[in-house]
This record gives sequence, structure tokens and C-alpha cells, in this order.
Amino acid sequence: METVKYLLSEDRMPTAWYNIAADLPAPPPAVLHPGTGQPIGPADLAPLFPMALILQEVSTERQIEIPDEVQAIYRQWRPTPLYRARRLEKALDTPAKIYYKYEGVSPAGSHKPNTAVAQAYYNKQEGVKRLITETGAGQWGSSLSFAGALFGLEVLVYMVKVSYNQKPYRRALMEAYGARVVASPSTETNAGRMILAEHPDSTGSLGIAISEAVEVAAQDPDARYALGSVLNHVLLHQTVIGQEALAQLEMAGDYPDIVVGCTGGGSNFAGIAFPFIGAKLRGERDVRVVAVEPAACPSLTKGRYAYDFGDTAKMTPMVKMHTLGHDFVPSGIHAGGLRYHGMAPLVSHLLELGQFEATAAQQLETFAAGLQFARAEGILPAPEANHAVAGAMREALRCKEAGESKTILFNLCGHGHFDMQAYTDYQAGKLKDFEYSDEEVAMALAGLPSVG
Ligand SMILES: *Cc1c(COP(=O)(O)O)cnc(C)c1O
Repeated sequence: METVKYLLSEDRMPTAWYNIAADLPAPPPAVLHPGTGQPIGPADLAPLFPMALILQEVSTERQIEIPDEVQAIYRQWRPTPLYRARRLEKALDTPAKIYYKYEGVSPAGSHKPNTAVAQAYYNKQEGVKRLITETGAGQWGSSLSFAGALFGLEVLVYMVKVSYNQKPYRRALMEAYGARVVASPSTETNAGRMILAEHPDSTGSLGIAISEAVEVAAQDPDARYALGSVLNHVLLHQTVIGQEALAQLEMAGDYPDIVVGCTGGGSNFAGIAFPFIGAKLRGERDVRVVAVEPAACPSLTKGRYAYDFGDTAKMTPMVKMHTLGHDFVPSGIHAGGLRYHGMAPLVSHLLELGQFEATAAQQLETFAAGLQFARAEGILPAPEANHAVAGAMREALRCKEAGESKTILFNLCGHGHFDMQAYTDYQAGKLKDFEYSDEEVAMALAGLPSVG
């Protein structure tokens, strides 16, 4: 009953990203200009992103070729392993088969380098010198810093202040890769100064940090902005995960009945799930897909599907998504990451189309699940990944009750080696459950823009 590893040989690594836009029964709603409220075109995004990424953002081609140079870098850690969690199955005494795809083997320790490397490549191709971004817990900032170092690009990271103070080692990793890291809100930008004038003690949020990064990138002709989740091209780059998993499950002679992923902005969930949802949309193979989000930041389960800004200072285009409102600031006691106010428009659109189920989990359940997983499988998951572990365990226990031997696949999107303080706090009984109440949701949603 040992854990089994399915390794794909390098020559079977995907050579194209899978674009789910090609298989959608209805296109997602238009992206709107923040000032005029009118649909935007590629030229409107040119100050922020290289044209190759803007074209991927709007593409409806099913397969988009992965450049050779990007494939060569992917090969340092891809294909990532797929494991059958036999020891966890035994610990849960479940008849279900549990597989997990492990993205923690990348240099930054999560799935995020899959898009960071691609984004750095296209920016370098188009002559960009500097990438500006934001980071919450530090996973995205370290991934982009790593990718920037490979391509000789400067990287500037606005890091949410509460994490900047609580996660010095993530900051140190970004600096080790050569990036400059600034605590957000900062006094370096108009957006940051405005927030600080109103809330001098602000601990920051992803929405605020995005405002700062976008402001600086838009003013510097040699710089572009980079986002680690939410956008179509980011989700696209992550589909190497699900495509590899399909091939590895084929090696195992299996196909999942249930696919589980955790959702912050939606990119690792899309990465594991979109290739399977695509097969369902094309009528090839059915599957049940489950997204798990924190009860403390419940955009899919409690947010409204509405047009909203991607950032607090309302500088980004408006997109239709499940949102808690761009003013949302997560509770300080929530340790599990996944703190963005909105959800990827493509993921939101697929939820509206009934293509997957969304559930929420409390942080005590997720940390308990993460520790049980670590004790059975040896890998300590990132707190974000614990949501997927908890979701997979719920499904496995349901199979036990029903006496059903289903096949469950989940994405173990990163390891938790930089998150030991959260585990220490959990084991010391310092973490509490926190539900974002309906009243708070209503208050935050009151600030949504009104769109025609
Ligand atoms: C960033 C991150 C997430 C959340 O982002 P998604 O776009 O929802 O994937 C989840 N897990 C890990 C390990 C991360 O680094």
C-alpha cells in the first residue's frame, strides 16, 4: 500500500497550452474600459502587457504553441509527478482512489512559475526591461522574480504589508533572485499615498497592491505589468498541469470521476480542471469538478456575479466576475492565502454555465486536512493547497459512506515550507474559523460600479 508515482517522460510534455475559449458554448462577457464603460480592444491594454499576451487573452484557438525556450525552462521541473495517495486512502479507510498532481517541485515551490516563465519570455521578446507586479503571500512575487532573473529583466514587487512583515523569508527569496520588494500600501505611488492618508495603519490588500503596480507600470515605457492569476492568458499557461495529469492517469489506466482544486484567483484550479471540463464540453467524457475556497474570502460562494474593477483604485478594466467588491480587505486572522476579492472571469463564466460546483472551507478544517495529508504522504502542503486537500478528503469520506470506489484527482499546487508560522499557530491553537458574514458581503458589494 505504498504511494505510487506516475512520471511522464519529457518527450510527452505538452507542446501547446489548451485554450478553453475554443470549447465554450457561449463567449464570456466583454471587458470594459474603467473610464468609459465601453468594451476595450487590444490597443487599450498595450501600456500594461506585451502584445503576444494580449492576443492570447482574446484568442479562441484551441491550442496555443508553447515557445521552445519556454518548454526548455519548463523541463527543469516538468513534467511534474502525479501520485496515487495510497497511504492517505488507507488512513481515511476509503474505497476511493485519490490521485494528486504535485506542483511544489518548481523552483519557487508552486504552480506559478508555469505562467511567470511564459510572461517573462514574451516581455523580453518585445523589448521590455522591467516587470512590475504585486504579491500577497509571496508565491507570485518569488515566481516572477525567478523568471525575471532567467531572462535578465528587472522585477519590482509591491507586497501586501501584512505579508511583508509576517513572511520575511518569501521576501528574502525574491531579493535573492534580484528583485526589489516594497511594502504596500507605500508612499511611492498616488494610489498608496491615497490609501495611507485615509487609513495610516492599512495592512494592505491585493487590490491595493495591484493599483500601485499598475500605476507604476503604466507610467514607465520600458516597464510592463504582470499578473499571477485571474487573466485568461494566466489560466491558459497553467493548463500544462491538467494536460500532463490526463496523460499520467492514462498510464495508470484511470480517469477521474471528480477533479478538485483550490481557488484564489482561479489559475491553478483552471490549470488542473480546464482540460477535463473541455473534454466534457466537447461531449467526450463526463466529470464532476469541485472548487474549494476559504470561508473567509468566499468570492464564488457568496460574491455577486457582476462587473467590478480588478483593483482598489479602479485603474484596471472592469470584468464580469464573482466578486466581494474591490474594497474588500481580508480578515487579519485568516492564514490560508487565497485572499483576492474577485475570481477569474473565465472561471466565473463556467460556474454560471453550471460546469463545476463551488464550496467553501473553514481554515481549521483545511489545516487539519493538511497535517493529515503530511503525515500520510510526507509532503506539507501550502495553506492554499490545504483547501484542495480538504475538498478531496470530503469526497473520499463521502465515497466511504456510500461504499463507492470513485477516482478523485486534486491539484497539490504548492508546498508549505515558507508557511511554517501558520502551521505553528495552528498547532498552538491560535487560528480561528472566520466566516465572512452576509452583512459584510452586502456592505462590500454596495461599492460595485453600476454598468449599463
Ligand atoms: C497563488 C497561489 C494560489 C492561488 O492562486 P490561484 O490563481 O487561485 O491558483 C493557490 N495556491 C498556491 C500554492 C499559490 O501560490
